[in-house]
Amino acid sequence: MKFVTAEIKGITTVGVLDSTGENVLPLNAAEQCRSGEKIFPDTLLECIQMGDSFLEKVNSLIDWEDVNSFYIPMSDVRLLAPIPRPAKNIFCVGKNYADHAIELGSAADIPEHVMVFTKAPTTVTGPDTEVQNHSGITNQLDYEGELAVVIGKEGQGISRENALEYVFGYTIINDITARDLQERHKQYFIGKSLDTSCPMGPWLVHKNELENPGNLKIQTRVNGEIRQESSTNKFIFPIEEIISVLSKGMTLEPGDIIATGTPAGVGKGFKPPKYLSGGDVIEITVEGVGILRNTISK
Ligand code: MG
Repeated sequence: MKFVTAEIKGITTVGVLDSTGENVLPLNAAEQCRSGEKIFPDTLLECIQMGDSFLEKVNSLIDWEDVNSFYIPMSDVRLLAPIPRPAKNIFCVGKNYADHAIELGSAADIPEHVMVFTKAPTTVTGPDTEVQNHSGITNQLDYEGELAVVIGKEGQGISRENALEYVFGYTIINDITARDLQERHKQYFIGKSLDTSCPMGPWLVHKNELENPGNLKIQTRVNGEIRQESSTNKFIFPIEEIISVLSKGMTLEPGDIIATGTPAGVGKGFKPPKYLSGGDVIEITVEGVGILRNTISK
């Protein structure tokens, strides 16, 4: 099942895609006609916080005999980021593909332990939006295509064996980075947290739909040119290990987001570098998840 946060007729709502991907079922509008009750919260974050009962209630609604008349065609829907305002910073794994660690430095930069930085919640923007070019602040805006994991269940001290039980689902993140700020300020936070520097979407795919998140093709194109092409089977630290390490002494909560790192082919890795400029269109495809497309503002 694919969950969306969408604006439909001016109202922001949580919905699910039908099997064709061309229609959205707005959960509350349909449920209120069925039962007269508002049982779904207004945000996907709160829906995830409901735990297993969320999926049960969605399945029950989808089984309703009259449900088909409530689907809205995609042409009348504006998709937003699945979680437009996360409750906390987005966790990001750095250098989780060896070829990317090497393109930014050398083999000596391949990490021995999971490396994590964060992006501010204010960075999030949706699919098909403009990413601000932030000219005057940075001359080195760069893209990073990444699979993102959304946590579904609270946990601390989660074992590798049980880690995937704590996942709700998966989406795509473009970890837009101002390389000059990243370098100047040493810590990554400033260079990673400019407004609109975290495009997310186009939807949140429930984990039941992905047989093996550790073996998905990932590709990034800029203006149609393939820049990054890899697979999540190249992770240095698999999703299970990332969750296990992050949750040692730190509680992970439903709705927490973890970007799993980017493969080789970022703009900075080319000689000369291929940084982003106004009008560039970036498309990130993750197998089984979808395509996240954004444009850099002029
Ligand atoms: Mg990244």
